[in-house]
Amino acid sequence: SLTAGIVGLPNVGKSTLFNAITQAGALSANYPFATIDPNVGIVEVPDHRLHKLTELVKPQKTIPTSFEFTDIAGIVEGASKGEGLGNQFLSHIRQVDAICHVVRCFSDDDITHVSGRVDPISDIETINLELILADLETVMKRYPKVEKMAKQKDKDATYEFEVLEKLKDALEAEQPARSVEFTKEQMKYVKSLHLLTSKPILYVANVGEDELLDVENNAKVQQVKEYAANEGASVIVVCAKVESEIAELQGEEKQEFLDELGIEESGLDQLIKTSYDMLGLATYFTAGEKEVRAWTFKKGMTAPQAAGVIHSDFERGFIRAETVSYDDLVNAGSESAAKDQGKVRLEGKEYLVKDGDVIHFRFNV
Ligand code: GDP
Repeated sequence: SLTAGIVGLPNVGKSTLFNAITQAGALSANYPFATIDPNVGIVEVPDHRLHKLTELVKPQKTIPTSFEFTDIAGIVEGASKGEGLGNQFLSHIRQVDAICHVVRCFSDDDITHVSGRVDPISDIETINLELILADLETVMKRYPKVEKMAKQKDKDATYEFEVLEKLKDALEAEQPARSVEFTKEQMKYVKSLHLLTSKPILYVANVGEDELLDVENNAKVQQVKEYAANEGASVIVVCAKVESEIAELQGEEKQEFLDELGIEESGLDQLIKTSYDMLGLATYFTAGEKEVRAWTFKKGMTAPQAAGVIHSDFERGFIRAETVSYDDLVNAGSESAAKDQGKVRLEGKEYLVKDGDVIHFRFNV
């Protein structure tokens, strides 16, 4: 399954945030094995639609879908020079599908900052530079060979060489691959390189507990937002310390605490949702008397592929998907009412599943 990796310099609040993730996962009855791999934290994907469906269908149980975060260890600085733990850092990043970069914005004189002062942009650049240098190496490994073939008028090589040159220029100017615009055709060559700086990235600005309510006027947060906007990345603001407290609560208790803090949604919930979205993931539901359940699929999946998320037999034996959108179902008030209103569609093999679809799969065994 797809995973987002948590990175950051030392002392920025990574472990505090990751502990909040594992704590939240450990409270979930649905993922009792959530802590087998200490570097992976499994969390439930918060979705208010699941509660609404539960009210409507009154199933015996309700099961949310889940999402995985990976804690990325290793030494950041000098990583691209390929020294020991630094190398490990890069190889871990290679294995994740998106990056959540925690950036220290909180001031706390008791907690040492690695570079001696809290400077979010310089922190971001420190890590990004290592990734950029590693990518430049990847590009330059391929460069001479493709250049030679392009000179011999090989058509594919000519196209690829154009891509490599664009990447080389950007990376040499210390810009990430994701900031370069490519055509759809060119993207195929970019993808084949598996670059670190073309993975989607989310900056997590970690502010102090007293700053949580006024992030609009927080200069450091604004700096991070500007930086992110330049490369088309998103930013969320959390207070890792507060998240670790919220993660110990569930249900009403959690809501009360959030109300007390004056925040609508926990930073962790925002982190989960944004990461999910960043990876191109979406949710469909199955709803029956036994269980109402949310399932994760990749946007663009056909009905049989989405059925395969439940079980490979569902994909192989797929006949059709009886589908109603969440909104139509809720507006109708029940499945039979939705049927009467003609809102339940019979979709075939070519159907592209949409976020919020409520589906009964029909299949041959
Ligand atoms: P890591 O090295 O990036 O994993 O950082 P840690 O999570 O270990 O945090 C380093 C120190 O900063 C710890 O003492 C944390 O308690 C503290 N810390 C983390 N987040 C916050 C925060 O939001 N506010 C304050 N005041 N301290 C924090």
